[in-house]
Amino acid sequence: MVNTCTVTGKAEQKCRRAFRQALAAHPNAVLLITGCYAELGAGELASFDPRAVVLPGSRKGFLRDLPPILRDRLGAEADPLGTAAFLRSLLARQGASGENPPGAFALSTDSFLAHSRSSLKIQDGCDNACAFCRVRLARGPSRSLDAMEAVERVRGLEQAGQREVTLTGVNLSHYRSALGGRAVDLAGLANLILEGTESIALRFSSLYPESVTPEFCALAANPRIRPHFHLSVQSGSDKVLKAMNRPYRRSGVVRAVDALRAAKDDPFIAFDIIAGFPGETDGDFGETLGLCEDCAVAWVHAFPFSPRPGTAAVSLPGRVPEGVRTARAAELFRLAVRRKIAYIRGWEGRRVSGIIERPRESAPGGPLRAVTANFIHVILDGPPGRAFPGGGEVSLRILGPLEESILRNGESEALAEICESLSPGTC
Ligand code: SF4
Repeated sequence: MVNTCTVTGKAEQKCRRAFRQALAAHPNAVLLITGCYAELGAGELASFDPRAVVLPGSRKGFLRDLPPILRDRLGAEADPLGTAAFLRSLLARQGASGENPPGAFALSTDSFLAHSRSSLKIQDGCDNACAFCRVRLARGPSRSLDAMEAVERVRGLEQAGQREVTLTGVNLSHYRSALGGRAVDLAGLANLILEGTESIALRFSSLYPESVTPEFCALAANPRIRPHFHLSVQSGSDKVLKAMNRPYRRSGVVRAVDALRAAKDDPFIAFDIIAGFPGETDGDFGETLGLCEDCAVAWVHAFPFSPRPGTAAVSLPGRVPEGVRTARAAELFRLAVRRKIAYIRGWEGRRVSGIIERPRESAPGGPLRAVTANFIHVILDGPPGRAFPGGGEVSLRILGPLEESILRNGESEALAEICESLSPGTC
C-alpha cells in the first residue's frame, strides 16, 4: 500500500516512482494506492498497472476493514491480477452502496505504537482557500477529532509507555470541538490533554501564524509542550502573501515568533516557504530571506512553487521561470543550513531531553540516535554502556553540530552524550 501526496508535481512524480519500484520488487503483489494523489488523480492512476488498485483518500478509512477480507481472499486466490480485480469490484460496490467508510480519524493513534515517538491526527481538511493549495481540494472542509476522544487516545498512548505525542492535522488552527456547551480550540484541546494525562509531552506538527494566540502562548509555556514550532509562513512579502490569499501578513509572523520566544527558552522555530510564487520579484524574495534572518529561524523547508491543476495560482500572471524558482529554493536551503548550524552551536554544552530512537532493521548495530525536545536529531557519542531502549527518554548534553551531514540534508544533525535516564524503570 502506498499513501500518496499531491502537494507538488514532484511529490506525484516520486509516488509514481515508488509504485514502479514496489511492483518490480514484488511481482506477485497487488499495489493499493491511496491518499491525496489517489483522491484527485484517480482517473489517471486507474490505468497505471493491472496490479494497481486505487482507493481515494476520502475513503481511506475503509483500510481498517480490509485485513480480514483480504486474509480470507488470499487463502482462496494467489493470482495478483485476480486479487486486484476482486479488490476493485469490492471498492466499487462499497462506493455504489453509499455506505460511508470509517471516518477521517479511524486510522490514527495506536497504529503508531511501533514508533519511538507517536502521533495523533486530530484534524483534517481546511476551510481556507490558499491560491497554491491542492491539499484542501483533496481533503475537503475542516473536521476535528472530538476533544474527549483525543484526550482518551493520548491517555492510551501514555499508558502504553509513549513519552511524547505529536498532534497532527492539515490546518491545526481550524481545530474545533465542543465540550459541555463550550467551544474547544487547539489551545483548549492541548490544555485538556495536559490535565487528563500525567507526563506525556506534546508537539505540534505545524502551526499557522494566526494560531499563535495569547492563549496558545500561555499553553506553550508549559514544560510539557515541546520547544519546537514549525510555522507555515510561505513568504515574507505582504504583496505575495496577499496574492497567495493567506490570512496574515509579515508583521503577524514576526509577532508570532516573538511570542513563542517569550514563552519558551530558545525554541527550534522552522518555516515552510514557497519560492517563486507568481509575481514574486527579487525584492519580494529578498523580504522572505530577510524575514527568515530577522526571526533567526533554525530551519526552512523551502519548496519551489509548483503550479497545481485546479488551484487559482495556475492562472495567475507573472509566472516565475522554473530556473529562478529552483535557484531561490536553493538559496533558502543554504540559509537554512547556516541557521541550523548556528542554532545547534547555541546549544553546545547545554542539556536537553531526548527520546531514544528504536534501532533500525536496515542498520542493526548502528549508532544510538535520539530526537531532542527541541527537535535536534542527534547521534549519541560512545557506547551507551547501559541499556537505553527505543522510546525511552534521557537527558542529553549537546556536543556540537554535524555540519557535513546538515549540508547533505542528512538525518543526523548533532553529536550528544547521555547524562541520565528520565524514563521510569530504565537503567
Ligand atoms: S491553510 Fe494550508 S491546507 Fe488550508 S488552503 Fe492554505 S495551504 Fe491549504
